[in-house]
Amino acid sequence: MTSLKLDTKTLWQAVLAEMEVNFSGLNYDMYISKTKAENLTDDSVDVICPSIYVQKKMELLFKPFLQESVNKIGKGKYELNFRVGSTLEKNKEQPKFEEPLFKNISPKENPSQKKAKETGLNLDYTFENFIMGGTNRLAYAIATAIADNPGKMHNPFFLYSGVGQGKTHLIHAIGNDIIKKHPNLSVVYCTGEGFMNELIETLQKGRSKKQYLTNTFRKKYRTADVLIIDDIQFIAGKIQTQEEFFHTFNELYMAQKQIVLASDRPPEEFKNFEERLTSRFRSGILADIQKPDFELRAAILRAKRDKEGDEFDNEVIDFIAENVDTNVRELVGSYQQVLTFMKAGEHPLSIELAEKALGGLIKNKRNKPVNINTIVKSVCNYYSVRIPDVKGKRRTKDLVIPRQISMYLIYELTNTPFASIGELLGGRDHTTVMHGVKKVETAIKEDLKTKQDVMNIKQFIYSI
Ligand code: ADP
Ligand code: MG
Repeated sequence: MTSLKLDTKTLWQAVLAEMEVNFSGLNYDMYISKTKAENLTDDSVDVICPSIYVQKKMELLFKPFLQESVNKIGKGKYELNFRVGSTLEKNKEQPKFEEPLFKNISPKENPSQKKAKETGLNLDYTFENFIMGGTNRLAYAIATAIADNPGKMHNPFFLYSGVGQGKTHLIHAIGNDIIKKHPNLSVVYCTGEGFMNELIETLQKGRSKKQYLTNTFRKKYRTADVLIIDDIQFIAGKIQTQEEFFHTFNELYMAQKQIVLASDRPPEEFKNFEERLTSRFRSGILADIQKPDFELRAAILRAKRDKEGDEFDNEVIDFIAENVDTNVRELVGSYQQVLTFMKAGEHPLSIELAEKALGGLIKNKRNKPVNINTIVKSVCNYYSVRIPDVKGKRRTKDLVIPRQISMYLIYELTNTPFASIGELLGGRDHTTVMHGVKKVETAIKEDLKTKQDVMNIKQFIYSI
């Protein structure tokens, strides 16, 4: 076990790279990416979590996967010691795969870069760095037109897509470009969450001083020439924030100021959102970014390779592009993962190596038959309930949901007939199973939480 050459940081980078690919989306963003490692020895490593909540989630949901990944990458057998600690240093370098493909390295910041930074924009997210293809062409065209003529034509601009498709990149690029081309305009950028937090803070401060400081807040937002808000879906259901946003929006809109909003869903899917707001979103120009097609995926990876001088030949690039078809973030993460494997093992790059490095991710795995017990186990694990209880007779809500989701997933992933599913799940009638499956199908359409839960569980199942 002394053959280990990796230091803690490199090990964890490689582990995170693998985890990011296997647990994309919320799981990775909310838990895994928040961790860092310390004290790597020959047979143990500390996994530092920023809170007890994250620690619990990590231990409950991700431990076996982390374990496997650490053992594989560290080439040994390690005990994982989870504990809460400061992860600040890690957070600073966290946007590893969030970084654009090409960084703008300039020795000195010019005034517009300085201003962009103060605005909270990421200088690395530019139009030049954004590779255009079939699936993002319209979004890109609108974004560049807005940067040329803010407030004139496409207002408001509402951009939506699934995660990792380049929304954040594109709206930062708009901000950066406007600051460069129109230095007199005031650009305000925030996220939906940031907007809410700032509002709450303002109200709190105001109260303690027996006066409201909302004027400062309002001034900042309502006098912007360009207001860019990322992840606007966050404010859905937050009544007071919505109200404040509504007035901000109106004032800017009436004054023909540019509004740019990015969201993970189209306006019509905003639940708990006032109709008067969603109809305003729709009143401007809408664009979505679809999953990148093969050509765009390959183009993005080739551009990255050329820029960074990595020794990837087209064959391997195409292999990755062909197999990782979900989103750009995963695509770039996979590329990075292959690179890390190549460097760690000092192997020459080949399709076989890439296949190995990407392990659970690649498509074939998705077509592999899924084990029914794995499904039930994963569901129970996810909801922290016992398998015998799910198979048993009790009908409390905490059991009915995992039971029906098990039915649904077994049906969807294995095509097992209803009657057999019923038998497997404690001798239930086939109509009960049919009802359960239907119920989950509807819930997935109507309820975001169920949709996300089912997606998360599927990811677990496929990554085993
Ligand atoms: P979203 O906000 O839609 O979740 P991001 O803008 O964070 O997605 O994109 C994820 C990563 O992929 C970022 O590093 C971004 O720079 C990169 N990216 C996405 N689309 C492109 C593209 N077309 N060209 C270059 N990089 C891209
Ligand atoms: Mg984003």
